Order: sequence, then C-alpha cells, then structure tokens
Amino acid sequence: IEITLQLLARFGVQVQREGWRAFTIAQGATYRSPGEIHVEADASSASYFIALGALAASAQAPVRIEGVGAHSIQGDIRFVDAAQAMGAVVQQGPNWLEVHRGRWPLRAIDLDCNHIPDAAMTLAIMALYADGPSTLRNIASWRVKETDRIAAMATELRKLGAEVIEAADSLTVYPLRQVRAAAIHTYDDHRVAMCFSLAAFHGLIDGLSAPQPLRILEPRCVAKTFPDYFETLFSVARAEVADIPVLTIDGPTASGKGTLAAEVAKALGYHLLDSGALYRAAALAAQEAGLDAQDEAALAALAAQLPLRFEPGRIWLGDRDVSEAVRREDIGALASQISAHAAVRDALRQRQLEFRRLPGLVADGRDMGTVIFPDATLKVFLTASAETRAQRRHKQLISKGISANLDTLLQDLKARDARDQSRRTAPLRPAQDAQLLDNSALSIEASVQQVLVWWAQRRPFK
Ligand code: C5P
Repeated sequence: IEITLQLLARFGVQVQREGWRAFTIAQGATYRSPGEIHVEADASSASYFIALGALAASAQAPVRIEGVGAHSIQGDIRFVDAAQAMGAVVQQGPNWLEVHRGRWPLRAIDLDCNHIPDAAMTLAIMALYADGPSTLRNIASWRVKETDRIAAMATELRKLGAEVIEAADSLTVYPLRQVRAAAIHTYDDHRVAMCFSLAAFHGLIDGLSAPQPLRILEPRCVAKTFPDYFETLFSVARAEVADIPVLTIDGPTASGKGTLAAEVAKALGYHLLDSGALYRAAALAAQEAGLDAQDEAALAALAAQLPLRFEPGRIWLGDRDVSEAVRREDIGALASQISAHAAVRDALRQRQLEFRRLPGLVADGRDMGTVIFPDATLKVFLTASAETRAQRRHKQLISKGISANLDTLLQDLKARDARDQSRRTAPLRPAQDAQLLDNSALSIEASVQQVLVWWAQRRPFK
C-alpha cells in the first residue's frame, strides 16, 4: 500500500489516509507525469545475490546488482541490513548495490524477521555459514505461504546435514559441520528453490569435509518471480570444470544418438553439444572457401577461426543461419573426410571443451567419451543393428518426400560403419567404460528413460 501511495504521489495524486483503514482521493484528481521515473527491480529477487556476495565475492570482484538501491521503496530491501549484520559489505548508489564478503565465517544473528518474511528464508541458508546458531523469529506467516515454509526449510536443511530447531513461529539453524549430497525438494515454492541454491557454496566453509553436490528438484518453480534465476546465478558463479557433470552419447551413423542426446539434455536441463554439427559447419566453410579436403593445414586454420555460434536448435556461421545447410548429405560426407585429420580435430577440441558449463552437458559424437571428456560421469554407446538403422533412415527420407532404396541404404551404412571403425583418427569405438544400449527395439522415450536411470544411479542422490 505504501508503495502505491508513493507512486501516486510521484504522479501528482495525494492520498489522505487515516491509519491503514481509510484512504481518500480528492474528486477530480489527475495524474501529472513526473517526467522521468525509474521502475525498480525486484528487491526480493536481489536478496539472493546480496547473499551470494556476502558468501563468495571478494572486495576486488563484488557482486553488482543493477536496478535497485538501498533506498528502494520495497520492504524486502531491508534484507540488506540483515546481511550486513551477518558480515556482508554493501556499497550502494542510485539503483545499484555492490556486495562482497566482509566477516568470515558470517556472524550468527537472532532477528525478528516479521518485516522481511520472504527474504528471511535466505538468512536461514546464510546461517549455515555462520559462527554459531542463528534464530529467525516472528515468522509464523511462513506456515501459510506457498507451502509451510518453516517445515520445508527445516526438512531440507536437515537433508544437507544441518542441525535445525523448528518452533511454531521461529527457526534456529546451526552452522554446517558435516555435509551430505542432497536433493532438495522445492514444494513448488520458488523461494525454496532459489535460497537453497546458495547452499551449494558450502565448499567455502573452512574445515568441512569434501564438498558435496546439491540438486534442486523441480527448479522451474522459480518461474513464479524469476524465470532465469539459475541462468543468472550460473552467469556469475564458477565451478571447477571437473565438477561440472558430463554425459556422452555416441554410436554409429543413424543410430538416433542426436535425438537421444537432445531429449536427455532437455530432461536434465543441461547444455547440448552436437559435435557432428561442429565438423559439418567446418566442412561447409571449407567447401565454400574452395579448400582441398586433403589440405590438413589449411583446414585446421579454417576450423580454428570459424565464427560459429550455437543457439538451441540453430547454428550460425557469422551472420548466416546454416542449420539446414550443414544437414546436407554432401556436407556430411565432407565432414567425415576432414574429421580424419588430427590437426582439424585439435583445432576444434577447445571449442568442444567450452561447452562444459553449468549446470551440465550432454555431448553427442564420435570421441566425446574417449578424447574430449574422458572423465564423463556416464558414457552411452548406441548399438542398433545396421538393418534397423537403414529402416529408420529409409522412413525418414520417405517422409521428407525423398525417394530411397532400402538395400542401397543398408549397403551404404555398412560401408560407412566399416570406414568409421577402421579409420586411424578417432575411430568409431565405444569408450572402455561405456554403457552399451541396443535401441533397435526401443522407442525414443524408452531409450531416454534408460539413460536417465543410468544417470540417476551414477549421481550421489537418493
Ligand atoms: O554425427 P554427424 O553425422 O553429424 O557427424 C558428421 C561427421 O563428422 C561424422 O561422420 C564423423 O565422421 C565426424 N565426426 C567426428 N567426430 C565427432 C563428431 C563427428 O569425427 N565428434
């Protein structure tokens, strides 16, 4: 109500009020433009990044939050005071905040949180990093929000290994002394998902046993107020490369690995690397530049300079959308030829490694599990029979109105398998520790399910 009244005043409308019981607007009142007005960013959303700054940012590289300053008219901006009480260092200006770590470990607090009920959930997570138990009081309203937030926070904090005392209208959280890999249930509550993501930084706690991965279940619930929360978090947080999970999928031509990889990536919310597309784009560029397919040095130089950009489902070469062009048969054949050059493979190696970004990667293609990501958590190798693959390709071509002969396709496939398996550089061969999947008789959905089951078995979550 106060925000509304302030805004009306900015537009020249004065409201008379009697306490919070009656509001009177004069007859004939009209709006006058204030000339310029800044629409504030959301202070509750900012709270997660204020906390992140307090936990993990240095004075040299503070977390900068644009769009809201400490003089915001929103109630949740008072979270800044609580974060400062715990040790955060906060600089502020008109519509910006900069936050970095001050005291470490954080200072434990005992606070009446009635004025910042939503943002206070983040304090419960910051308490894991404090020098003693913290108590958040006067939070009975938590029980009647998206879910019973007191119960939810207590349950999920305990999963991590924290000691918690839950009362009717308060919560006491002890600093984390031991940690377990945990899959956090989010109760379809965006704030549970967002604040628990900050528990993933427990590797910063001195003396704690080795850091454990943290999984946020149903993370899309953040859409209620902050649809790209995790993308924003990942844009400012770094992880050890080795800690970023990778799942590789390989197999012979027409085995359906591309489709499987795309579906698995979608299901896990991971990035997707279609390495074949990289070789195809290099082939397209080589063809257009008139390069000889045997000129290894020139091809490698070209591959190293390719102005390639991947968007979901689209591939750009410079400012040209080449998504369709790289799918041509002649380009596939040329890709197969130029990918046999070791120097070309080297030139594309770094680009492939760069796809390993938070929260994880599904990489599809020839040497993903053997050369590029030998430490992948799960490596899947498809082994559908040549007959099944020929039938699938046949159906695919017919459905596109392209005439095709099943026998010819089968012969072509077998010849390509033989070539791919016997070639010197990056031959088609499962990684030693690959999980073989014969999907001849499996639907796409069944194959995806199988891969997700294997994935779940290799992650440390119950
Ligand atoms: O998988 P796709 O058919 O798109 O790949 C095109 C060609 O690029 C393949 O035939 C293969 O020879 C080559 N390739 C490769 N290494 C990869 C991916 C593709 O050699 N990682």
